[in-house]
Amino acid sequence: MTKSTQDLLARNEVLAKDLLAANADAVDRERRFPRQNLEALGSNGLLGLTVPTEFGGAGAGIPEMAQALERMAQACASTAMVTLMHYCGTAVLAAHGSPTLKQNLLPQVARGGHLMTLAFSEAGSGGHFYTPVSEVRKNGAGLRLTAHKSFVTSAGEADSYVISARKAGAAGPTDLDLYLVPRGAKGFEVGKRFEGLGLAGNASAPMKLEDVELQAEKRLGNEGSGFQTLMEVVLPRFQVGMAAVSLGIAAAAFQAATSHVVARKYEHAGGAALAAIPRVQFLTAEMALELRSARAYLGETIRRVAAGDPECMLDILGVKARAAEAALAVASRAMTLGGGAAFGRRGGLERIFRDAQAASVMAPATDVLKEFLGKACLGVPLF
Ligand SMILES: Cc1cc2nc3c(=O)[nH]c(=O)nc-3n(C[C@H](O)[C@H](O)[C@H](O)COP(=O)(O)OP(=O)(O)OC[C@H]3O[C@@H](n4cnc5c(N)ncnc54)[C@H](O)[C@@H]3O)c2cc1C
Repeated sequence: MTKSTQDLLARNEVLAKDLLAANADAVDRERRFPRQNLEALGSNGLLGLTVPTEFGGAGAGIPEMAQALERMAQACASTAMVTLMHYCGTAVLAAHGSPTLKQNLLPQVARGGHLMTLAFSEAGSGGHFYTPVSEVRKNGAGLRLTAHKSFVTSAGEADSYVISARKAGAAGPTDLDLYLVPRGAKGFEVGKRFEGLGLAGNASAPMKLEDVELQAEKRLGNEGSGFQTLMEVVLPRFQVGMAAVSLGIAAAAFQAATSHVVARKYEHAGGAALAAIPRVQFLTAEMALELRSARAYLGETIRRVAAGDPECMLDILGVKARAAEAALAVASRAMTLGGGAAFGRRGGLERIFRDAQAASVMAPATDVLKEFLGKACLGVPLF
């Protein structure tokens, strides 16, 4: 890891502790987009963490991205989610943007002045985000895009959107391309925000793009390359990043629950703490094991991805599912241990519990990942 990346991660630690954690309850309660957190992350170089150094970023890879996201999620999962989508969008632009697009946008991203996100999901294909039904048509030298996206993080807040669509007359359901669309393009409309159970600050909303005119250079990659980009650029970053977010959420639940059971004392039992009860110790051990095994699996997956191991796809699929389940298991036990205080929404545990639910439905959902994993183990083609 370079010195500048180490410095960035140290700044991330301070921001997470001093700012993100302090804002987390208000972001959740008021369903407020975490703009202040993002501005601070941006001005400290963290939104440019993964931007190549030639464009002014830190050029960090998946391991450092995961480390930063886990720490952010431990403090404020909404902020981590927005940042994860930004990192994924940035990676597609850096890998497949035209030289002009990259030169125009990546230095701004590196400075924290340009937020990105992904707009893939559609009602027509649900969690099967790799089969959009939205279409793009050729229009002379340009393109016209009509897309109805169902669930976009940072909708209306991000400056640009990586959008998936099939070309008219596509050869098959995964014959798609990715396009970069700026906020405010003619025909671009953001719908009413969801009142999601968790991640309440991530400004999730549907988006409509009606006959949006695009120059051909807004396509990210060669014609017909979108599916490959999803698999090679987006999937590893999103899966590992989302696993890191789940782990951060699980760690926050563990921390809140263990602090609670140590601090909660019974007058009727001479001041003995909840922590003295064997069943409480047992649940704590179960939480610790979930956390440690998910962390070990994430570490191993990151190591294999970073080493370019060609066999690591199974773990890229598995790690998000494992971490999502760990977050659910830890947060649910933490709620039990938090008792009336947690149920009464004191101490932040129930926010963490709600945030923990998101990862298992976010595409690819845990069930879908297990279907893929099962197929991979059995030698059945994934698609
Ligand atoms: C907080 C949050 C933020 C999001 N941000 C974004 C974003 O920025 N960009 C974006 O593009 N999308 C985003 N999404 C959308 C997300 O990625 C999913 O596409 C969406 O949640 C899927 O919802 P759905 O109800 O249409 O799923 P459906 O497709 O209806 O699936 C519902 C459930 O059915 C089961 N299921 C479906 N197919 C299978 C299968 N083949 N095998 C086994 N079980 C199956 C699974 O249990 C699944 O959870 C976000 C979602 C959330 C919750």
